[in-house]
Formats: sequence, structure tokens, C-alpha cells
Amino acid sequence: MKDQWKIETQAVQGNYQPKPTEPRTPAICQSTTFKYDSADHMASLFDLDCLDPMYTRLGNPTAGAFEEKIAMMEGGVAALATSSGQAASALALLNICQAGQHIVSASTLYGGTYSLFANTLPKMGIEVTFVDPDATIDEIKKAFRPETRCVFAETIGNPGLNVLDFDKFGQLCREMRVPLIIDNTFATPFLCRPLEHGANVVIHSTTKYIDGHGTAVGGVIVDGGNFDWSGGKYPELTEPDSSYHGLRYTEKFGPAAYIVKARAQYMRDLGATPAPQNAFLFNHGLTTLPLRMERHSSNAQRIAEYLQQHPAVSWVNYPGLKSHPTHSLAQKYLPLGCSGVLTFGIAGGRDAGIKFMEGCQLIALVVHVGDARSCVLHPASTTHRQLSEEQQKASGVAPDLIRLSIGIEHCDDLIADIDQALNSSQR
Ligand SMILES: *Cc1c(COP(=O)(O)O)cnc(C)c1O
Repeated sequence: MKDQWKIETQAVQGNYQPKPTEPRTPAICQSTTFKYDSADHMASLFDLDCLDPMYTRLGNPTAGAFEEKIAMMEGGVAALATSSGQAASALALLNICQAGQHIVSASTLYGGTYSLFANTLPKMGIEVTFVDPDATIDEIKKAFRPETRCVFAETIGNPGLNVLDFDKFGQLCREMRVPLIIDNTFATPFLCRPLEHGANVVIHSTTKYIDGHGTAVGGVIVDGGNFDWSGGKYPELTEPDSSYHGLRYTEKFGPAAYIVKARAQYMRDLGATPAPQNAFLFNHGLTTLPLRMERHSSNAQRIAEYLQQHPAVSWVNYPGLKSHPTHSLAQKYLPLGCSGVLTFGIAGGRDAGIKFMEGCQLIALVVHVGDARSCVLHPASTTHRQLSEEQQKASGVAPDLIRLSIGIEHCDDLIADIDQALNSSQR
């Protein structure tokens, strides 16, 4: 029945059912360890015969409540919460990639993910080929090698805010028999559920909309349970694991093989565990996620339309605008709204950009997106200032580009603030 609930109901109720006298909301279980009465029971934990909590690095009831809820909302079989979004993408990939192997990724990525793929994974012997997400299936296939393990992309790319063509990427991955791993941070499961469109694994930086209040850094990996690991290509899932007495993940855990392995091997060994307090905040954030995403999206849509007709604005980039190159994909995959991030070009370039950013009063200058509070960034003078103008252009950061993360304040107040800051930027 819970699987048939609408996502708004899942977000509020999750899977948590307290017994009489138990707390109404999943409590913060601030304990490193959990008590057992018998050696047999504890042995069954170490053998993965039973997945009860034992030690918080491997699992914690507060994190568990969050994991069950997000898995339900994404339509997956199970989830693994991590200490950050970066940890989620790193663990999701390390779980099926090792030295000598290869990943194909859309080139339109969050900066931290790009750095992981371009610098750190190669140092570990894992190579990544970046492909243009607009390329045809045949063109993207040329990037594949026999040792290619998966394809990675974002639902809404950064900084172009391009919406992924899920049908194309889904078809590509089915033909090449590799899983499709999607970073769904900007869209959230309320606006888009990638598992319904051909993805096999979904990751999030929960730091953004899922927390939604700028309070905690975290991440999560959701297993769709819909990829067939058999056939010999993924022996790490189908063949005995010597670190667990020869257990085979697919045999023992069926559709949850991938996520149990991520927890049992990589969370065990690398320890990127979320604090129980943070897991509580993410679970709390999910409760209001659908309401907030509606407001983030409607505010951003109205502000994009307002900016489009402002004389101090040279261009506006938001997938909800007809002028956006992936507007038709947005209509198909994001029918409820296009989330809260938009970019625009300011007349007068870099200097006007700095004046605009400093002129905003309600909208704060912060390196963040997905917060209930609106924020602004002029990348050319801040996050990308070390790059030359040529390098900035290559990474999609024009000198006049302003990024807004629209919050859930009243839209009239936001427009009034943007209006006065735009006017003062032109003086
Ligand atoms: C912020 C972000 C990340 C990284 O998440 P952290 O929680 O900061 O580690 C990954 N992907 C996207 C799309 C992001 O916005």
C-alpha cells in the first residue's frame, strides 16, 4: 500500500510506524553501538545474515528511517546515506569500478563531481570519458570500452541547467548493458524520479533541497534494484566476496545486491558515515520537500520570466522558459516544475555582476543552492576567479553570468530585491 501512496504522503509518513509510547518522529539515535544478548545474534550480523544495527558506521536507526523514506520516494529498493554528496557519488562508483576500469559521463556536471572524475578517480586508475549529453547514441557509444562499467549524468546539469534526455541515455545503457547512475540533486524525487525513466542508481547531495534549510552536509545512494548484474560482467556482485566468507551479493540479497555491497564493503572500509543528527535533519527535510519544491519552482519560473523582459538582462537560462534548449525535455521529465536554480547575463559584464551581487539585500551572497533562503553568486569574481577569462568560458562561466538559487520567500519581495539590485548595477 505504501508503494501506492502519492509522494506527498510518503514524504510525510515514510515507513516509520511507532508503537505505543514510542516517539512520533524517528528520534536521533545518538549511539555508536547497539547491545545484543547472544553471540549467535551478533555472529549473524557479521555474516550479513541479519541487517540489524550493530555499529553506526555500518548503519543507524535514524539514518535507516531516512534511507527507507528516500528509497520509497525515488521508487528504489533500498538506500545508503553518506556523509556528503561527494561521498555518495564516490561510493556509488567505487562499488562497481576498480583500477583499469572506465566510466562514461555527461560533461555537464557539478564542479566537485567534475574534479572527482577528472583528477581523483584517474589517480586511482579509473578513467572517465566525458561526452556531450546532446550527442547521438551512436556518437556516445564511441566513448565505450570493453572495461566501461557505467554511465553517469545529472538530471539537471550544471551550469547549463540542461535537462537529461532519459529515454536516450536509458536506451544507450540497455544496449551497452551497463547501469545508468543519475545525480538527481537539483530535481529531487518530487520533480523527477529517474528510476521511472531508465536509471538504475540515483544519488543526491542531500545538502541541497532535501535538507532545504542550509543546516547539514550529506548524501545518499538509492538502488533501483532494476539492473541485471548477471552475465559475468560484474563478478564483484555475483562471485564470492572473500571479505564475507565467500558470500555472493546477488544470490543473498537479490535486487538489493548493489546497495548491500556498497554498505558492507565500502562504507565499512572508507567510513563516510552520516552523523545521526544529520540523518534526522534530512528525514525532517523530506517531510516538506514536495511543498518546498513547488514553491522553489513557481518562484524561479516567475523570476525567469521577469528577468527575460528586464532591459539590464542580456539572456536568461532556465529550463522552464520556451527559449531554453532543453525546454521540451523539461516538459517531458519535469512536468511539475524546473526547480529553483537559474542563471542570467547582466548588461555591463563582470563589473555590473559584482555590483548586482553586492546590491542584493534580501538575496544573500552564499556559495550554496537549494536553500529555503534565496542566494546569489557571480562565479567569475568568486568560485571561478582563479581561472583566466578563456578558462572561465571553457567551463561555461561567462563574465556576465549570475547564478540565482531561488528560495521559498514571497516572489514579490524577491522580484523587488532583484529589481533594485539590477538598477543599481547599471549606475
Ligand atoms: C552540491 C552537489 C554535489 C556535492 O554534494 P556535497 O554534499 O557538497 O558533497 C554533488 N552534485 C550536485 C549536483 C551538487 O549540487
